[in-house]
Amino acid sequence: MTTAYGRLTLAEIYNEMDSLASSYPEFVTVTTTQDEFGLPSSCRSFESQHVGCITKYLVIEDPLVYSNSIAGKALKRRPDVFLSGALHGDERVGPVAILEVAKLLALAASCESGQATGSSECNNFYSNFTARQAGWLARLVATRRIVILPAANAKGYHLNNRYEKYVYDNGSTLSIDPNRDFSFDNSPSNCMRSIAARSINELFHEYLFQMSMTYHGGIESISFEWGALSIPLNKVSPDDIGQRILAEKMSLFAGELSPSTYYTTGDMNDVVYGVYGGFEDWVYAGSWKTDMTVQCSPNTYGGYDASKTSYDDATLNTFNILVETSNSKNPASSAYGSDTSLLDAPFLYDANVDNGYATKHVRTALMAIDAVEPYVEINRCKGKRYNQEYKPLRALTNRWSKRYKKIRSKFGSKPKVWWSVGGSFTVDETFIIYGKWSDLPSTFNGLNQPSHTDVISLMSNSNFYTTKTKSGSTRWSDPTSATVPSFAARIKTSKFASGDLIAVFAIAKVDQNWSLQPNNIWPNVSVQSHMVKIRTDSNYNKNKNDREVQGQLYWVSVPLSMKIK
Ligand SMILES: [Zn+2]
Repeated sequence: MTTAYGRLTLAEIYNEMDSLASSYPEFVTVTTTQDEFGLPSSCRSFESQHVGCITKYLVIEDPLVYSNSIAGKALKRRPDVFLSGALHGDERVGPVAILEVAKLLALAASCESGQATGSSECNNFYSNFTARQAGWLARLVATRRIVILPAANAKGYHLNNRYEKYVYDNGSTLSIDPNRDFSFDNSPSNCMRSIAARSINELFHEYLFQMSMTYHGGIESISFEWGALSIPLNKVSPDDIGQRILAEKMSLFAGELSPSTYYTTGDMNDVVYGVYGGFEDWVYAGSWKTDMTVQCSPNTYGGYDASKTSYDDATLNTFNILVETSNSKNPASSAYGSDTSLLDAPFLYDANVDNGYATKHVRTALMAIDAVEPYVEINRCKGKRYNQEYKPLRALTNRWSKRYKKIRSKFGSKPKVWWSVGGSFTVDETFIIYGKWSDLPSTFNGLNQPSHTDVISLMSNSNFYTTKTKSGSTRWSDPTSATVPSFAARIKTSKFASGDLIAVFAIAKVDQNWSLQPNNIWPNVSVQSHMVKIRTDSNYNKNKNDREVQGQLYWVSVPLSMKIK
């Protein structure tokens, strides 16, 4: 059954958020930045009060998957992703698209957890998505924490106005552009004036976002930092290569805008225009390009504590992709598309019937959630397929896959193991490593990523065998292809004895080209973002609150357990 997307009012969006939280309380929490962070209402007491006075957001996470005490490291490192729409209140597609992302993920997690098996919602879900797609969506919920702020400028969205209008005590008004209201390349009195910007600021203090999407409208492009006016002409960011690859692949995954035409991609200064005080550059560089940040002293809403605009070295190192969804800021409902063939590549132009503007950006958001962290999955051995490795709401225990991901092989046979690499774009190296569970160091528990030293020492451990190193692609190498690239290698069971229990890991090193730099970077520093560092620097470690970002060169799969007959 097809669900068509279409225009939504703020009241409709907020109602849908509330009903998600009541339908899927295990996965979805809804709150407001007023309740959570004590921000003021964006409507003064003497103004008319309406639904747009408060700023609602939701958080999607699996509370159980890493709840076992030995999964502490995995929980701490589970990456945070931020999706936001409508910094400009009259740009209407983004909020709908990311609300649909929330609905889809919550539904997928619920159906895949097995708790709602047989419900009409799940039956409908499984009629729209293959087992592999369903497993992928549920995996995103289990392995990421996703924060969705559909209408950052809630007041503007409710009133269909670009600006957040502030009314002074004397009745005079100030139309604040929330995307000029951040503390980067700006002056202290001109930032954090809006509740929209403060809401985002509070969320960045609370979470440790590695990846962020910001949805606008009025043109059609997918762009990335730099986008600040004070950046010298023709200069690109130190993380340009990774940002550029991600935006280009995202454009392909969004699909065709017209036959053979895709979203234009590039850095904002080039394809959109630079601004003072933009969200994007603030979030990318506020933690390290500190000579361009300021402490804000706005005179709106009773002021804002200056300490709220000082940052540690982990908060603002985020990729923030700016999507301009459509030439019309407010396209007709009939151009929003539907969930039909949502994940079935290629995403050809169909006059926006199914592959509409919201459909395209359900996809770009899903890609962002996936790409935040590389992973490797063993998905086939002999005739057996493994579609859903992480079952939502299953608390993983030490070496859990010994029971859940297992196969038997005859002594002397050479079973073929298939695996694929996700959350990344190019596979530089990948191979299988295998040996007896009983010889495996305890750090390989199928939950936490082993440290770089642990992986290297396993590779030189004579009780373990590695297959030939390969290189190749991921599903993001060509997002318009319906085929998910995979790798295969054979296990030599003759190395073991009948009755032995073998752990088989797939390992991959990915996206090493992201750390390369063109010669027109500015400033002249090494790569700075979590997104690049996490995959290219095994010494990279940043901490904030209860969160941690740890670089890995080798990403290790959950092991397949093989019993030798
Ligand atoms: Zn905009």
